Amino acid sequence: MEKKLFQAESKRLLEMMINSIYSQKEIFLRELISNSSDAIDKIYYKALTDDSLSFDKDSYYIKVKADKENRTLTVTDTGIGMTKEELETNLGIIAKSGSLAFKTENEIKDGHDIIGQFGVGFYSAFMVADEVTVISKALGSDEAYKWHSSGADGYTIEPFEKETVGTEITLKIKENTEEEQYDEFLEEYSLKSIIKKYSDFIRYPIKMDVTES
Ligand code: ADP
Ligand code: MG
Repeated sequence: MEKKLFQAESKRLLEMMINSIYSQKEIFLRELISNSSDAIDKIYYKALTDDSLSFDKDSYYIKVKADKENRTLTVTDTGIGMTKEELETNLGIIAKSGSLAFKTENEIKDGHDIIGQFGVGFYSAFMVADEVTVISKALGSDEAYKWHSSGADGYTIEPFEKETVGTEITLKIKENTEEEQYDEFLEEYSLKSIIKKYSDFIRYPIKMDVTES
């Protein structure tokens, strides 16, 4: 399989994320959940103008699942999904890296939580994960794809099986080191409190599932 390279700007941002320049690592979950919520919004708005689509509130949700044994954290949504091209352009290229660099510089300068107030986006997953897998099926498409990256060296995309429309993002959570702890991102209690703290305003249900080891 061919490995594609991230755009230079994306690579730079990714390296910043991997090196965890930002101390509040837990905000990665807010970013993933808000992306899921945006993806459900897109179906919702489409349904308003497209009679062939109905928006049954109960079918739309976000699910957070931790698997301690395998050290994975999965965020699943029933949103609009991504095509192969969208996986490529949305996750391979960062559009607003200029403003992010600006925010980052300012945060370092004055110590204010500027990043915390704005979105840092999908790449923040790399603050807590050394591998990220995105499986997605776009609305109106018969095909699903798997995007995978284990860091700044690039990513792969391949066809994959997925029955339902939506996106599933799996993080392989980093091992604890002497300086940094990551285990909390596999703990039901911590995850619940992170969700409560940052994602309380999300208007779709956030379900939770934890498998103990
Ligand atoms: P932003 O949300 O500010 O656009 P992100 O880095 O968080 O930036 O996400 C980049 C893009 O990737 C999103 O705009 C969206 O198009 C796509 N994306 C990310 N997560 C999802 C998801 N769960 N479902 C559908 N599209 C997604
Ligand atoms: Mg986002």
